[in-house]
Amino acid sequence: MTVKQFQAESKRLLDLMVNSIYTHKEIFLRELISNASDAIDKIYYKALTDESIDFIKDNYYIKLQIDKENRLLTISDTGIGMTKEEMEENLGVIAKSGSFAFKSEHEIKDGFDIIGQFGVGFYSSFMVSDIVTVISKAFGSEEAYKWESKGAEGYTIEACTKETVGTDIILKIKESSDDENYDEYLEEYRIKSIIKKYSDFIRYPIKMDITKT
Ligand code: ADP
Ligand code: MG
Repeated sequence: MTVKQFQAESKRLLDLMVNSIYTHKEIFLRELISNASDAIDKIYYKALTDESIDFIKDNYYIKLQIDKENRLLTISDTGIGMTKEEMEENLGVIAKSGSFAFKSEHEIKDGFDIIGQFGVGFYSSFMVSDIVTVISKAFGSEEAYKWESKGAEGYTIEACTKETVGTDIILKIKESSDDENYDEYLEEYRIKSIIKKYSDFIRYPIKMDITKT
């Protein structure tokens, strides 16, 4: 499988995220939950104009899974999903609505709190993860794809299987070091408190599954 390169801007942001000294790394969860909610909104708006879609509210939710043993945190949604092309376009480029793209190198170094204020989107997951895997099946598509990246060196995309429409974001949480604790992102109480802090306003249910070790 060939490793595809990120565009230069994305690579720069990814490098920053991977090596981030930013203190409030927890905001990655806010970003991923907000993307999940946006994806469900997209199906919802489609359903408003398309009679063939039955929007049954109970079928739309965000689910978090913690697998401590394997250091995995998964954020799943039953939203609109992404095609292979959409994965290439949307995950291979810098956050479009994020203000990060408009900041100069100088501003990024000096005002690192733009991460906290505006968010940098999907790439913030690399602040806490060694590997980020995205498995998605787009609405109206029979095929599912797996996008995977370890950071700035590039990403891979391959076909995979997924029964239902939507997206799973699987984070392989970094090992803790003397300087930084990442184990907290595998703790139920910690995840719950981050959700409470940043994602209380999300209109869809956020469920949680725990694998005990
Ligand atoms: P933004 O949300 O500001 O557009 P992000 O970096 O957070 O930027 O996300 C980039 C894009 O990737 C989104 O605009 C969307 O198209 C796509 N995306 C990310 N997460 C999901 C998801 N869970 N479901 C569907 N599409 C997603
Ligand atoms: Mg976003």
